[in-house]
Amino acid sequence: MNSLKPRIGVYVCHCGINIGAVVDVPAVVEHVSKAPGVAVAREYTYMCSDPGQGLIKDDIKNLGLNRVIVASCSPRMHEPTFRKTLKEAGLNPYLLEMANIREQCSWVHEDHAEATSKAKKLIEAAIAKVALLDALEEKEVDVIPSCLVIGAGIAGIQAALDIADAGFKVYVVEKTPSVGGHMSQLDKTFPTLDCSACILTPKMVDVANHPNIELMTYSQVEAVEGYVGNFKAKIRKKARYVDFNKCTGCGVCAENCRLAGRIPSEFDEQMGNRSAIYLPFPQAVPAKYTIDPERCLQLSKGKCGKEGPACAEACTAGAVNFEQEDELVEIECGTIIVATGYDVFDMNKKPEYGWADNDNVITGLEFERLASASGPTGGKPLLGRDKKGEGGYLPDKVSFIHCVGSRDKSVDNEYCSRVCCMYLAKQAHLIRDKLPEADITVFYMDVRAFGKGFEEFYDRVRREGVRYIRGNPSEIYRKSADPDDHTMIIKVEDTLTGTPMEHEADMVVLGVGLTPRKDIREIIDIFKLSQSTDGFFLEAHPKLRPVDTASDGVFLAGCCQGPKDIPDTVAQAKGAASSALILMAYGKVKVEAQVSVVNADQCRGCGFCVEVCPFGAIELVDENRMGNIVKVAQVNEALCKGCGSCAAACLSGAIQPRSFKDEQILPQIAALGVNTQ
Ligand SMILES: Cc1cc2nc3c(=O)[nH]c(=O)nc-3n(C[C@H](O)[C@H](O)[C@H](O)COP(=O)(O)OP(=O)(O)OC[C@H]3O[C@@H](n4cnc5c(N)ncnc54)[C@H](O)[C@@H]3O)c2cc1C
Ligand code: SF4
Ligand code: SF4
Repeated sequence: MNSLKPRIGVYVCHCGINIGAVVDVPAVVEHVSKAPGVAVAREYTYMCSDPGQGLIKDDIKNLGLNRVIVASCSPRMHEPTFRKTLKEAGLNPYLLEMANIREQCSWVHEDHAEATSKAKKLIEAAIAKVALLDALEEKEVDVIPSCLVIGAGIAGIQAALDIADAGFKVYVVEKTPSVGGHMSQLDKTFPTLDCSACILTPKMVDVANHPNIELMTYSQVEAVEGYVGNFKAKIRKKARYVDFNKCTGCGVCAENCRLAGRIPSEFDEQMGNRSAIYLPFPQAVPAKYTIDPERCLQLSKGKCGKEGPACAEACTAGAVNFEQEDELVEIECGTIIVATGYDVFDMNKKPEYGWADNDNVITGLEFERLASASGPTGGKPLLGRDKKGEGGYLPDKVSFIHCVGSRDKSVDNEYCSRVCCMYLAKQAHLIRDKLPEADITVFYMDVRAFGKGFEEFYDRVRREGVRYIRGNPSEIYRKSADPDDHTMIIKVEDTLTGTPMEHEADMVVLGVGLTPRKDIREIIDIFKLSQSTDGFFLEAHPKLRPVDTASDGVFLAGCCQGPKDIPDTVAQAKGAASSALILMAYGKVKVEAQVSVVNADQCRGCGFCVEVCPFGAIELVDENRMGNIVKVAQVNEALCKGCGSCAAACLSGAIQPRSFKDEQILPQIAALGVNTQ
């Protein structure tokens, strides 16, 4: 501990009226100014502002302060700000303690007298601790100048291109055989109606050809170790059973496959078919074929026809290779961007809408494939085709339903998916374009047209004769058992007029919401990420650090962090890229100084701390104690985040986080009136 007699400065913030309207700040200042060790106590309207920080700096210099307490908001918000203030005034930044009199006091108490009294106590407790703090030294580690991007939808593609254009190496890992994500499945995009493929495919090609990008499709990250600036990732490149270098993408194999046109295509949302050896869609990047090992006769049954695999026979380049195996590669990188996107709401959770049993009740994503010129119907909204994709009818009455699986407590999704109002308006416009005589109705709860050009687009669609009725359908069912009668009944109440309705339609499009991916757990476990209450990845701070995560050096881009349209996805991807670039361009990063330390003499080597550490920062190492080799815990300071889980688990008190040692926090707790003996 610092041996100087403490000269403490206490700075109490009004936070405008956030604190000042509830806590009697002048009374608090008057009270704490008399506490032992306090050299000065002051108040200010916004302590985090330039003049507020100036007060602290001047006092450090003029009054010789050696400890500072800021009583304001949560340390999560402004501890870094005030540490910087101390540093700029020449004081070690770790000789700061914050008393949270906003979130833990003025925001949660209505009684002004009690809030004032609690604020005094919280500051007294901080005074008891601050005198016992040690000056800590921050260390810097080098940052490897490369970035790993996981997921190659529009978010991952944009982030990768920005970083690569800035001159840094990027590894892009995409789970499926092609880059593009959901955007590659869309037809036109709201509100400008640009063709999705036209704006996306050039970027898909760029990401594959960029000299600074190493693209690994049909691949997955299996494990990541290390810390900000120095990550090591293990990546599994799954066997495609097609030699990447030999395949010319000609497609003869797929034409000759014995299962040609018999396997539902994931890209076409099961409405079109593919072969067992396939390219997901004609513009796929890379344009290399892949064999689906679960469907391929040779790989799943050990035999393909009497003559053997037809694809291999047909492929003149000799690219088909059934002996190919998965490949494991290891890469090193300084930063990571997670851009793993979303799933659409699973309609099986809402059986009352009849999606599973009626092929004229479709999801918004299925509609995109029907509307697309490259889709299974060549862009015609044809329904009721047979298994060979032939026949079918065009609908006369089309209904669109908002908020399916969003803003709905019954399916545990209370959030708004932000894109469905607008994509349904776009789809209503596309129907008007393709079927000018169709009767089009949209059922909505309310229309959220918040983005640039959205309200204008919504107005345009209504002017095109699309009827909007406010009401949330309770049920959708077939009108008759006659297979030739395609009429569906939408049971709904018009909530503006209070009229119950049984609306008829022969095509119903469900505005399914965006949900976290079903396999989100895999990424959470690998990268130690957290989820917010809606299930998407949690950012470090919703306003000030929206692309950072609690794991330093790991950033979020796109819909994996929450539902977004394409403009917002691209903007966030650019934000994530710039955050990663800051680290890589500077080349060094400070690691946490408030890490845990082990008192080796007290450590019994039980390993409880190793088990509980969420960051894998502790290992047991051998120590020679007078000829006996014993195990003791050792902390990797670059990995440790100072969370204190280890200290709570250690039965012998041998491991403690700096600035949160028992001898520092017990007096603080005692000052609050708790018996700590
Ligand atoms: C029906 C519908 C219509 C829409 N229409 C519009 C529109 O007109 N205009 C508009 O602005 N927005 C529209 N949107 C929203 C748009 O789809 C999204 O904004 C955009 O696609 C988000 O891109 P993303 O990269 O974040 O996610 P995604 O497109 O989901 O991409 C994520 C990528 O990560 C990959 N991945 C996932 N997990 C892993 C892993 N573990 N390892 C490696 N790779 C992984 C996935 O395979 C995928 O390629 C629409 C959405 C829907 C559902
Ligand atoms: S320091 Fe915190 S409490 Fe004070 S003004 Fe700034 S934000 Fe508000
Ligand atoms: S082995 Fe047979 S089933 Fe498998 S991809 Fe080749 S042709 Fe198709």
